[in-house]
Amino acid sequence: MAQHRDLGHILAGFNSIADAKVMLRTFWTRYRKICPGFQLWQQLDQGVKKMEECVPLYLHGDEGVTYKRGGVLILSFQSPLGFGTSKGDKDLSLNLQDLGEAGLPLNFNKSGMYTRMLMVVCPKDMYKEDPRVWNAIFERVVADFSHLEEHGLDLGTDGKIFPIIIGNKGDWSYLVTSGNLERSYRRSPKGAKEEGRDVEGAGICHLCLGGQSFDWENLQMAEKAMAESREHALPVPWFREAAMTRMLIHDSGCNGKSRFYKLDLWHGFHLGIGKSWAAGGLLMIQQFLEGGNMDDRFKQMSAMYVQFCKANKIDKIISKIDKYLCGGGGSAEPLGTWNKAAVTTNLCLFMEWFFTENPDVVTHDDGVYYMAHGTAKINSTFRRLYSGDLWLRRELGLEIAGELLQFIRSYCFEAWFHLQKGQSRFGMYPELHLLHEVHGQMIWEASKSEWIYNPIAETCSMDEDFVGRCAILTRSVSPRLNSLRSLQRYLAQIQMSWRH
Ligand SMILES: [Zn+2]
Repeated sequence: MAQHRDLGHILAGFNSIADAKVMLRTFWTRYRKICPGFQLWQQLDQGVKKMEECVPLYLHGDEGVTYKRGGVLILSFQSPLGFGTSKGDKDLSLNLQDLGEAGLPLNFNKSGMYTRMLMVVCPKDMYKEDPRVWNAIFERVVADFSHLEEHGLDLGTDGKIFPIIIGNKGDWSYLVTSGNLERSYRRSPKGAKEEGRDVEGAGICHLCLGGQSFDWENLQMAEKAMAESREHALPVPWFREAAMTRMLIHDSGCNGKSRFYKLDLWHGFHLGIGKSWAAGGLLMIQQFLEGGNMDDRFKQMSAMYVQFCKANKIDKIISKIDKYLCGGGGSAEPLGTWNKAAVTTNLCLFMEWFFTENPDVVTHDDGVYYMAHGTAKINSTFRRLYSGDLWLRRELGLEIAGELLQFIRSYCFEAWFHLQKGQSRFGMYPELHLLHEVHGQMIWEASKSEWIYNPIAETCSMDEDFVGRCAILTRSVSPRLNSLRSLQRYLAQIQMSWRH
């Protein structure tokens, strides 16, 4: 990349380290405040390397779907610094000229093919029976990065560059597999996704002892435990430590190794707790519509939804809303049956619009009130995170964290409220704790720094798009040389797209 002056893909458009100097200094100066135990600081203080030579990167992994639907592991790296977001309202070039106040842009704009760099393609057939293959892949990739972190890469007259991995991104399932995490959502008795893995008291979170030594559903207890996890060493969440924290620069602070595995707020809400929220919300809303039975009332809601999407120029994605979308509408717990994150976004926006248009409904009872309140707060949380930069001023970050907490509290209220009525709704899934951890992280950072790291930077919506595109490449190559041919096709593709 450096040889072809393509460093802009990891340096927010700057093609050389020299041009990116101010940006990198700003990034690391702020990062030092929120991650004081990061081992890089010692090396900087000793003069082993300079701040402006170090480029922050994330690893990202996911299992894409191949033509046989057998799955394929796709590993890539990316910078947290990119070309902003579509919701960012500031002029990007101004951002880069005035880094002090205008901020550093997030990495959500432009195609994933432009801003994510593919490293590994491995069909699941090759590792599903033999975990040694999976481990060997990570050992190899991590060993390469470890070498680069230590020795850097010589750019000739342009000096040196040290890629520094600041974390491993991915959905919760990938984090668990790549980090050998024993404490995770998979161990939740209610959220068990794998047979035989659900163990009462095994712990649902690699960052704290939620579900093990305390009840994570008790928000006050959880908050206390999350704060304490910064000061008291917890048992490590793995039996066998993965290569990443064994070999790479990491946070040497209390329980810092666990924090190498970054929770994805976007996934946790849109494909997790947000589905229960929206399904329960739609069932609540339908009772206020006209119609002799639930099907008729849903029909009316469907028409309102289509109209809402049209008026707001939103791709409606689904053509109708019915009780099956919400899990059937019977006495069973309402669960969103869709699998696209954008549907959750749309439904939450639709619900907010409905409550704004029908203020009388909101005062019907506390359940409806907190549904309207929580929906407005979670929508605002994501809207403000996406329109922000990589670093949020403390006051703004605290406001957003406050809104996220209000959503979490509203969810807990709904669970309690419906339980009182004997209704099974708003199950307490571990993803709610994931959102709580993100909130806890923002609060902790606010206590240490003027700048809070935007948690949206650690979400994977863009990465999933990238993985989808890479998975398509694997479908049209010979199964015998799948990995090699896929990487070759990727190189051919970026050869074209990077020139534009
Ligand atoms: Zn936790």
